[in-house]
Amino acid sequence: MRRAVVKGSSVWRRRCRGVRTGADTGQEPPYDVIIVGGGHAGTEAACASARMGSRTLLITHKLETIGEMSCNPSFGGIGKGHLLKEIDALDGICARICDKAGIQFKILNRRKGPAVWGPRAQIDRDLYRSHIQTEVKNTPNLTLIASPVEDLIITEMAHPTNDTARLQCNGVITENGDHLRGKTVVLTTGTFLRGCINIGLKRYPSGRMGDGPSVGLAKTLENAGFKMGRLKTGTPPRLDGATIDFSRLTSDSGDIPPQPFSFMNDRVLIKPEEQIPCHLTHTNKTVDQIIHDTIHLNPHIREEVTGPRYCPSIESKVFRFHGRRHQIWLEPEGLNSTVVYPNGISCTMPEEFQEQMLHSIEGLEKCRMVRPGYGVEYDFIDPRQLKPSLETLKIDNLFMAGQINGTTGYEEAAAQGIVAGINASLKVQARDAFIINRTEGYIGVLIDDLTTQGTTEPYRMFTSRSEFRLYLRPDNADERLTEKGYAVGCVSDERLKKTVTLKSELEEATELLKSVEHSTLKWRKDFDLPLPKKANCASAFKILAITSISMAMLVQKYPDLFGHVRNDPYLFTKIEIEAKYAADLESQLGDIEEVRREEQLVLPSNLDYLSLNMSTEAKLKLAEAQPHTIAAASRIPGVTPAALILLLRHVKQREERSPNRALNS
Ligand code: FAD
Repeated sequence: MRRAVVKGSSVWRRRCRGVRTGADTGQEPPYDVIIVGGGHAGTEAACASARMGSRTLLITHKLETIGEMSCNPSFGGIGKGHLLKEIDALDGICARICDKAGIQFKILNRRKGPAVWGPRAQIDRDLYRSHIQTEVKNTPNLTLIASPVEDLIITEMAHPTNDTARLQCNGVITENGDHLRGKTVVLTTGTFLRGCINIGLKRYPSGRMGDGPSVGLAKTLENAGFKMGRLKTGTPPRLDGATIDFSRLTSDSGDIPPQPFSFMNDRVLIKPEEQIPCHLTHTNKTVDQIIHDTIHLNPHIREEVTGPRYCPSIESKVFRFHGRRHQIWLEPEGLNSTVVYPNGISCTMPEEFQEQMLHSIEGLEKCRMVRPGYGVEYDFIDPRQLKPSLETLKIDNLFMAGQINGTTGYEEAAAQGIVAGINASLKVQARDAFIINRTEGYIGVLIDDLTTQGTTEPYRMFTSRSEFRLYLRPDNADERLTEKGYAVGCVSDERLKKTVTLKSELEEATELLKSVEHSTLKWRKDFDLPLPKKANCASAFKILAITSISMAMLVQKYPDLFGHVRNDPYLFTKIEIEAKYAADLESQLGDIEEVRREEQLVLPSNLDYLSLNMSTEAKLKLAEAQPHTIAAASRIPGVTPAALILLLRHVKQREERSPNRALNS
């Protein structure tokens, strides 16, 4: 039974404290799902919901900024690349578009194992935006409207049998006062809620350079009783590449061949040899001096608002690490653009000092600054007020995704966007929520961390945040998620077919390799290997794991045995990776089990956390929180599963060495 709340009634005052409510018109709303915001979360949410057959509206400030990359001209990297592959496995759009708009592709962390490889690409900013816009414009079931959303339509729903009531979101209200009704609403407003830009002493309301803030919506959420916080981020000045002297700088080229992000693509659009290089330069003592001298003109740095720990401003780095030279990667912004993004020097000092700083840097002595760096402060919603489906606990049918939930980065936003879009659509269809567990994907880790632990600083993804990182690899995101996505209707038949075929080929090949066993003597003889002389047996699968023998070598040596495995380098690599990780995976599961068993282990009060061999973030947070048990340590945001295992091992070793223990035992 529905009951429209009477404006001004005690229920309205008590429950809504200023939230506008709308009477139920009794008519079918024109939209199933309304997405507010056309950034990285919003476009993924809108396309996912539309793919699932929901009548979807994407409403955003300006159609021409849909798909805008607010900061760095790149996608992917360590942890972030994993998210991209998972979004692609669910038929999301950003990975496919990166393959079209990328101008330099590189796998980071190559020296380490494939579980922590970080697929990354420099992206042509204009190409990316224009491909995304084409994609959303051509998506069936998706309507686009340009307008600021100022408010939400909220109805109070009386429970059919008891006296309780719940708030429900039924649409949005635009700046012009238009009421747009929808069955579910997803907010993806990024840095816009009460956004405020800082450059030196200049301070003005803005969501990002050139765009106004969202004030009405922030007030609505505040009035609805959402717990909100304030975060900040920043971006570097942009440079005219034609005025940079690259000749003295180290150049860094892309991989040959470049690896596509999307499982649906065999290659990327740009030709391998046409990839654009990046260049490396460094800060110096003059940069440090300018930063110290201008701190009184730079309130963004001094204010008590938390910025991104892993993408700090150059000012924060200089104050934190005295006298250190910092890298600056000069990243091209596009094929037809001379604009260069100096990655590593996001800053908010007054413009004239930004120029002075730039001119002191090698290669940039004569560079022209085409736009100053700036900082932005904004409201975010404490994500512990969300369910794992990203629906809010407070207001039914209202979902949130992206930077509004306290994250930073395009990939983190897009990952939440696709989940929120799927769930908003499932809610309309009265179906169960789509939840990715921590065991299934980094998207699961991201959402679980946010909704259970919350965040006090802009949250970004790292591989160390996952307990299951040997299993959650970029290469197998399709095997982990595509069928699951298909089951809820957000993945195409074509993608499912491709994944299922590859998966069964992989399973068959693995079985075959496990079934072929030789003595180590024979393996030694056939491949001239330094294997133990004992006449143990080892399967071909094990041999792939423990030696440098490749799948191609096995096929060549034993064509009768393995010749019918499809001769495809991609499939061969996947088989080799599976073999290499099989044993480690077991040991990782053992570690996880150990932490679970030892949750109640009491941590000594005199533990010197800062001396432990783990990430600085984990050390600092443990030292500050002084947790009583392993379980308490595991609940501290930023203390990763890897850090927990290290902590557990350290405490147990310490116990073993303790003289009291020796006396007691
Ligand atoms: P956004 O991409 O911000 O998109 C929000 C969308 O919502 C916009 O289209 C906006 O027009 C629309 N919108 C907002 N309010 C309304 C409303 N009321 N009505 C209608 N439409 C609305 N990330 C990093 O990883 N590293 C960095 O160094 C970094 N630096 C950054 C520096 C700056 C200055 C900014 C602004 C962002 C930076 N980011 C950085 C963050 C990155 O840009 C975001 O994490 C990412 O874009 C978030 O995606 P989103 O979809 O949540 O929001």
